[in-house]
Amino acid sequence: MATGFVFHELYMWHNTWNWAQVFPPSLTVQPGEHAENPESKRRLRNLLEVSGLLDHLTPIKPRYATEDEIARFHTRPYIAKIKALSTENGGEASALTPFGRGSFEIAQLSAGGTMAAFDAVIEGRVKNAYALVRPPGHHAEADVGMGFCLFGNVAIAIMHAQKVHGLGRIATVDWDVHHGNGTQAAFYGRKDVLTISLHQDNLYPPNSGAVAENGAGEGAGYNLNIPLPPGCGNGAYLAAFERVVLPALRKYKPDLIVVPSGFDASGVDPLGRMMVSAEGYRQMTRLLMQAADELCSGRLVMSHEGGYSQMYVPYCGLAVLEEMTGIKTHIDDPWAEPMSTWGQQDLQPHQAAAIDAAAAMLERIR
Ligand code: ZN
Repeated sequence: MATGFVFHELYMWHNTWNWAQVFPPSLTVQPGEHAENPESKRRLRNLLEVSGLLDHLTPIKPRYATEDEIARFHTRPYIAKIKALSTENGGEASALTPFGRGSFEIAQLSAGGTMAAFDAVIEGRVKNAYALVRPPGHHAEADVGMGFCLFGNVAIAIMHAQKVHGLGRIATVDWDVHHGNGTQAAFYGRKDVLTISLHQDNLYPPNSGAVAENGAGEGAGYNLNIPLPPGCGNGAYLAAFERVVLPALRKYKPDLIVVPSGFDASGVDPLGRMMVSAEGYRQMTRLLMQAADELCSGRLVMSHEGGYSQMYVPYCGLAVLEEMTGIKTHIDDPWAEPMSTWGQQDLQPHQAAAIDAAAAMLERIR
């Protein structure tokens, strides 16, 4: 069965201005390009076209999430604030997160694109789906946008799926190199959503994403953080899947698996210090597809988050979509050979210790 793909040109028009990486231009910072700009996403879409894989994807048309749908997660004052600023000349959701005129509507289309991907998978129109949306969402909390994120695309889509489609249990596996704090916060007190985040230890947001953040009340045990030391390669990530992610999914038995998909754990990302390759992302995708086949009729949705290497994000994304479709194109990963010679890509003892600390929390899942 088919793989769905969400994209819209307007995603590329969300304006993050002439910041230099993550700093606003000033008399001491030369104007430049914001880290979260369209290019890595546009080049991924372009590589899908050039590889021919785009012809095999089922286009899913995004729609605008309504304010009521967004308000299932976000507060009305926060939604009103973003809307008002966006109607003028833009502003900042908080530090790091500038936006321009019209970004409110584009963020509605980003959340709505993720919701459309959910709809297509849940209604059986496609087997799985990838939403190449922008702005990203996993850092946004109920009353504040942060980390380049305005609205929590995945959180909003999960609430939609449970409210409108009556879905029971949903599990997230966030492989973005930063902590998925917004998704965690959205469901921290609930056990009908299992949130799992693999991330570089205490990278962003500050003081966020510890193993001890394990859910509260009804949700105690249903938030799993896997903070990894910098320098982890495919070996550590696959070990984290084998020892924590897959056992957690098998215990939890979700009705759908969703990946907040960031490619900033790659070996050449400017905002992360990990060494995952396109092949690593391919293998993680394969493991999640096997789990989804086993547990929830293959239902797997990915929603794009971070990834700041303009050159490399497209190859990581292509590998994921090749795996989701089962179609291998003629495009090779140019980084595969040079990256393969880098040291310590196998699981290292200190990495195994960090993974085992997270695995100790598995017993709390019922
Ligand atoms: Zn990230």
